[in-house]
Amino acid sequence: MELTDNQFERYARHLILDEVGDEGQEKLLNSKVLCVGAGGLGSPVLMYLAAAGVGTIGIIDDDDVDISNLQRQVIHATSKVGTPKVSSAEETLLRINPTIRINLHHMRLLPENVDNIFSKYDLIVDGSDNFPTRYMINDAAYFNGKTVVSGALLRFEGQLTTFRGGTGGHNQEPCYRCLFNAPPSDDPDGFRCEDVGILGAVAGVIGTLQATEVLKELLNLGNSMSGQLLIFDALEMTFRKIRYKRNLSCALCGDTPTIQNSTGAIID
Ligand SMILES: [Zn+2]
Repeated sequence: MELTDNQFERYARHLILDEVGDEGQEKLLNSKVLCVGAGGLGSPVLMYLAAAGVGTIGIIDDDDVDISNLQRQVIHATSKVGTPKVSSAEETLLRINPTIRINLHHMRLLPENVDNIFSKYDLIVDGSDNFPTRYMINDAAYFNGKTVVSGALLRFEGQLTTFRGGTGGHNQEPCYRCLFNAPPSDDPDGFRCEDVGILGAVAGVIGTLQATEVLKELLNLGNSMSGQLLIFDALEMTFRKIRYKRNLSCALCGDTPTIQNSTGAIID
């Protein structure tokens, strides 16, 4: 695929980077990325990926825009309150870059549909806000051989890491269950940032870092965040990085796994 004159102008600041160039930009234009959640993390992720020319962007979310979302979910406007987040997000993205393709999945990600949806994409962005979804994304990505760029938010903190332990060939790299083998016991269903509060701009910090890591993974640039957890503390304005390894007794990717498919079915 040759870049058009319009694309040469639009992506000029990518093209002059030796590490991107025409070849890298073409790679982005041919890439398919799914963002789970069009909320606080999904907003900057989607906007930067659209601007960057990621050619196919999928958005999955079953929620409508609520006025309390607008404090951090910058992809949505006040006029969109009460409308589906996926269509509100699509409208913003097409205003930024009308030349890309956007797939809307106006539904909840479930064990029954996750494999089918993930199979259409090269890479998954986890912008979800609850633990059951995080584990489901991790497990399905592993079985479908997809890389996940994961972000999480809590009050004044954010976390970022990447999982590429799927069957696609990086099989010595750790997964989410290697890092957190079970949801926090005090709330197995997952607290949501909605319930505990979040300084809105922190979502922008972590979501923008996720978009950066997605572009790096697609272009195979620099150091991957696979096996590394970045922890951002906005009050101290510090970033810490913790390294972690594949857990040999991980229920998913360990030597004797007990989870056998994306529905979370356990081997007896
Ligand atoms: Zn694992």
